Amino acid sequence: MRQIVLATQNKGKIKEFERLLAEYARDIQVLGLAEFPNLPDVEETGRTFVENSLLKSREVSAFTGLPAIADDSGLCIDYLNGEPGIYSARWSGVHGDDQANIEKALRELAGLSDVDRGAEFRCAVSLVFPSGHQNFGLEIIEEGELRGSITHQPRGSAGFGYDPIFQPAGQELTLGEFAQGEKDKISHRGRAMRKIAPRLSESI
Ligand code: IMP
Repeated sequence: MRQIVLATQNKGKIKEFERLLAEYARDIQVLGLAEFPNLPDVEETGRTFVENSLLKSREVSAFTGLPAIADDSGLCIDYLNGEPGIYSARWSGVHGDDQANIEKALRELAGLSDVDRGAEFRCAVSLVFPSGHQNFGLEIIEEGELRGSITHQPRGSAGFGYDPIFQPAGQELTLGEFAQGEKDKISHRGRAMRKIAPRLSESI
């Protein structure tokens, strides 16, 4: 069995990635960060999703000695010139306060009609290799986007982050009203992960 580390504590993300990878290779075991409790916190000091993703994958690969994959994602609102972008998780001031972030987005767009509420989720995924690996030095990067718009009110309680106020283009429902499996099929993260999965199976 070959092994890789996915830089996340989230068991759901690991299961989803395992399912996706199984379409390309059945001999790859996906480990998560829970298996490496002494890993130091990685500071996300990059200026782009790609940079932040690479900071995480490089650190995790160096620490574990295994090929590592990390993702970084966020919401980019057209009217706000791409804000909150890499600051999506901490936009309202408190890291991970989804409710406050949603309220801030609705306040910033208050009074704007549907045509001015365009936005997209973006995700960068990177794969790096540890010292001694045949592909050490190679950095594989893939990106995924999901276009849509910010609703006037939150709808639904599924998912996380800005899901209740994000309506994908061509859909009636917000991501907060989507079933989990349905969201993965179209999401920015799902798209980026589906691009990197075949590259992973041929390079590790
Ligand atoms: P992360 O890079 O996946 O940790 O995402 C950073 C932040 O972007 C999250 O805390 C959310 O606020 C926002 N975000 C990223 N992806 C999604 C998504 O699929 N739905 C809703 N919010 C998201």
